[in-house]
Amino acid sequence: MNACNAIYHPSLSPVYCIGCSSQLTREQSKLLFRTGYVRVGMPLGACESCIEKNETLRRLWTSVSTDTSYDYLLLREKRA
Ligand SMILES: [Zn+2]
Repeated sequence: MNACNAIYHPSLSPVYCIGCSSQLTREQSKLLFRTGYVRVGMPLGACESCIEKNETLRRLWTSVSTDTSYDYLLLREKRA
């Protein structure tokens, strides 16, 4: 067990939604960034409604969930 790798721990403290700036539980956060923490020390993430509303977050979510590079998705959208 790797205690240092806290971001993958299921009982992790709140996640900060970069869309609506609210604190989410791990269950509420659909998107959790593996890198980057806000100044308050919470991991960055996004809730479901923000992902639906925000184009950038939606793209990030697609990127994370499909393991596709964000830049590639952006490029593909521009070409479409
Ligand atoms: Zn949100």
